Amino acid sequence: MTGFTNQLNALRGFYNTGATRSFDFRREQLQQLKKSILKHEAALNAALFEDLHKSQEEIWATETGMVLSEITATLKALKDWMEPTRVPTNLINFPGKSFLYPEPLGVVLIIAPWNYPFQLLFMPLIGAIAAGNCIVLKPSELAAATEKVMGTIIEETFNPKHVLYAPGEGVTVIPELMDAFRYDHVFYTGGTAVGRIIYQKAAAQLTPVTLELGGKSPCIVTPNASLKTAAKRIANVKFSNAGQLCVSPDYLLVHASVKDALVGLLKETIVQFYGEHPIASYDFGRIINRDHFNRLKKLMENERLLHGGEHNEEQLFIAPTIVDNPSLNAPIMQEEIFGPLLPVIPYTTDEEVRSLIQQHENPLAFYIFTDNKKEAEQWLQAIPFGGGCVNTAAMHYLNKSLPFGGRGNSGIGKYHGRYSFETFSHIKSVLKTTAWPDMPFAYPPLKGKLNTLKKLI
Ligand code: NAD
Repeated sequence: MTGFTNQLNALRGFYNTGATRSFDFRREQLQQLKKSILKHEAALNAALFEDLHKSQEEIWATETGMVLSEITATLKALKDWMEPTRVPTNLINFPGKSFLYPEPLGVVLIIAPWNYPFQLLFMPLIGAIAAGNCIVLKPSELAAATEKVMGTIIEETFNPKHVLYAPGEGVTVIPELMDAFRYDHVFYTGGTAVGRIIYQKAAAQLTPVTLELGGKSPCIVTPNASLKTAAKRIANVKFSNAGQLCVSPDYLLVHASVKDALVGLLKETIVQFYGEHPIASYDFGRIINRDHFNRLKKLMENERLLHGGEHNEEQLFIAPTIVDNPSLNAPIMQEEIFGPLLPVIPYTTDEEVRSLIQQHENPLAFYIFTDNKKEAEQWLQAIPFGGGCVNTAAMHYLNKSLPFGGRGNSGIGKYHGRYSFETFSHIKSVLKTTAWPDMPFAYPPLKGKLNTLKKLI
């Protein structure tokens, strides 16, 4: 027995009543959620500023605005998504008709990290409600102020038998939530090491998972790139949220002939964006806690810095920093950086690039900057990755028509928009036919019917 046993059983009981399945119920819950987010928007802004020094504008673009837009789009499409879809029927089943019926999975668990603590908990929540499930939400304890406001939103909006909020330290709460209860799906976003623990716990109950993990996402800048735009777009994404972004360009591979020019433009851009003293910038974020601050400080040690490097432990501030050509054996090139440090590695041949990228597991994201379409296409075909962009970074994340997710070590499964609805639904395959005509070739004795079967199958 764990602290959550009664509550989890209550969710299962509520799910079994069928109450969550109707269109009206799902629509009502999503509408209430939208109202509640708007009601608590100021508190959310304050909390996200406290946890990560995010500005209101950044919060709108990457947290609240994204979530509200996902709710609006889901409400608009939901009826259509819930309808059974007719698909073609093969000859042997003539005159039958074939359909796909989406149905809710049941009781699902959603676990979120701290870097976009609101968006990464609420985006999957929208899909799970839309698909008609009961949901347990485990936020990250590291974004403590946001964890509290999200609790108020969830507890004010939902019946705890429908959506249960389970905050606290992952290391104790997750075993309490997972060891004695069988979910119908677990959706986890966070680091690969913890992802492994979650996957093992889910496997013990034969529960399917979505794992949204991380990795070292490369960004190539070829001699055919528009360098000024490349510098702006790379810096904008890399230093957003102080680099604590899963789809951040982890390191740059820049053709040696344009390296100096690009680095010069990156330096100029950093000053344009955040001023001479980024510690005083309205737009520049903070590191989540002391552990991550010290981890990042260590990654810079013994590296040659082309820009930045300033840090302030009390304020958990690390400046936007450019690292010159680190050794591939250095810690900064071995682990996901997840902070405002940008290694710039020159290359001369495409083969060098391929072999360097292949030293790491499949990345979550991949970016290529070039104005040569053929070159871009070749790279897109050559590198395995979760999702990516040509001539920009991270923006694929914002398009609801593109499924978001990793592959291999960077994740399993996908979501956003319709893909979230599908992730939290089971698609039942249904063949409907009639009593007449009743084809005799389908029944034994089969002897002598081979030619007919060959024609039909
Ligand atoms: P994390 O793995 O430390 O924590 C994520 C969640 O797991 C939190 O809710 C936490 O409470 C819980 N947890 C932590 N330790 C646990 C344990 N021992 N047992 C059970 N649960 C535990 O991840 P993080 O540091 O919060 O996030 C950073 C990582 O997440 C980066 O690798 C980043 O790339 C990745 N990430 C991926 C995405 C994506 O969409 N693919 C988005 C954001 C972050």
